[in-house]
Amino acid sequence: MDLKSYRAPYKKEFSLKDFATDDTGKFESKEEAERLLSHNVKRMAELQDALYAHDRYALLLIFQAMDAAGKDGAIKHVMSGLNPQGTQVFSFKQPSAEELDHDYLWRVNKSLPERGRIGIFNRSHYEEILVVRVHNYLEAEKLPEPLVKKDIWKTRFRQFRDYERYLYENGVQTVKFFLNISKDEQKKRFLKRLDDPTKNWKFSTADLKERGHWNDYQKVYAEAIAETSTKYAPWYIVPADKKWFARLLISTVIVKTLERMKPEYPKVSEDKLKNLEGYRKQLMDES
Ligand code: ATP
Ligand code: MG
Repeated sequence: MDLKSYRAPYKKEFSLKDFATDDTGKFESKEEAERLLSHNVKRMAELQDALYAHDRYALLLIFQAMDAAGKDGAIKHVMSGLNPQGTQVFSFKQPSAEELDHDYLWRVNKSLPERGRIGIFNRSHYEEILVVRVHNYLEAEKLPEPLVKKDIWKTRFRQFRDYERYLYENGVQTVKFFLNISKDEQKKRFLKRLDDPTKNWKFSTADLKERGHWNDYQKVYAEAIAETSTKYAPWYIVPADKKWFARLLISTVIVKTLERMKPEYPKVSEDKLKNLEGYRKQLMDES
């Protein structure tokens, strides 16, 4: 799969309209994609095992999207083969009063994956330059007035780049996924939530309200992605109208990223190696 064509250009303006939401690469059938997905899931599990044993690097996967784009499903499917002990998932909701009493990265820092782990953010600090911008929630953040300048979003873009670079330089590799669905597909999925009694619970009037701001979100997403896609923390724009393709693409990116990180099983010292025979003998001689 040509992953590069789905990676957002580094620090270059672009329009989301140039990224098809219904692209399925060279795949024509769901069956073929699902076969490859299960292969990727197995490979991810092997690499995760080595990442855990190595205990040096951490991988942070960030998922951002409009409602009903399939974040939850993608996380569930892609992570299905991983060892839960080596995985940490956090969902970022509206900040609590305690969280608003701190800088916006406070809750993010507390949720970072430990070394050897894969961390998954369902939404993230990116909400700080998306929903906060669309709805102008800055006031609630209690920043000192002289610090809220007109170019606050530019400042935040820089802070995001710096932060993710800092993480990279300390062993945390960040990869960001924007699940890109069309407005039509979102409508279909909302209607399904209304029609299917097992999905009624998922329907939320808040989601409908956010849909009303579709164009604003497309604009802020495009700018945020363009400003923060770096080689330390790339953004992938995942065509998400076909869930099976989105899941395949995401799993492929994760496998490639883990392979590039080259997690290694710790080397056993000569002394310990020498002793292994002794331990074996001890166990075999047990009566
Ligand atoms: P699902 O609906 O599938 O459970 P979700 O991620 O949409 O998943 P919700 O509880 O519906 O979860 O929504 C969380 C809301 O919190 C979103 O509308 C999001 O924009 C908002 N949110 C997250 N972070 C912030 C933030 N820093 N400031 C303001 N709002 C935020
Ligand atoms: Mg929601």
